[in-house]
Amino acid sequence: MMEATLILHNPWRHLAVHHPGVRVIWTRIPGATRGFTDGERIWLDDRLTQVQRRVTVCHETIHIERGIIPADSLEEARVNRLVAQRLISTDQLVDALRWHRHPSLPSLADNLWVDVATVKCRLDTMPEQEQSAIQQQLGNAA
Ligand SMILES: [Zn+2]
Repeated sequence: MMEATLILHNPWRHLAVHHPGVRVIWTRIPGATRGFTDGERIWLDDRLTQVQRRVTVCHETIHIERGIIPADSLEEARVNRLVAQRLISTDQLVDALRWHRHPSLPSLADNLWVDVATVKCRLDTMPEQEQSAIQQQLGNAA
């Protein structure tokens, strides 16, 4: 059996290790915005759930890494896709699917410790090659 990488990506650790100069500021952000960045600071809404915080800090970190600030809707979609890939590895997805015979998006999201939008984005933007690799792994385990 192949060695699975089931350790969850920790976006807080990633930020601290790779971007030690970036400050995180907890505040009340009006409207639906969960967070934003100017490249040196990340503002996060202090009402976010733990899972939302995890997804949002990963999102803002990827904005900083890509250096495209402010972002248009195309860049937002790219960042969301990269967030989904970073937070959900192929092995984690296989593992989650294996234990959910008829997986719903909310149950998968719970299992993978992300929000529903992120797991949906991960599934919707998955390359065909990865899809068939996952199918094969699930088939082998049956
Ligand atoms: Zn964004």
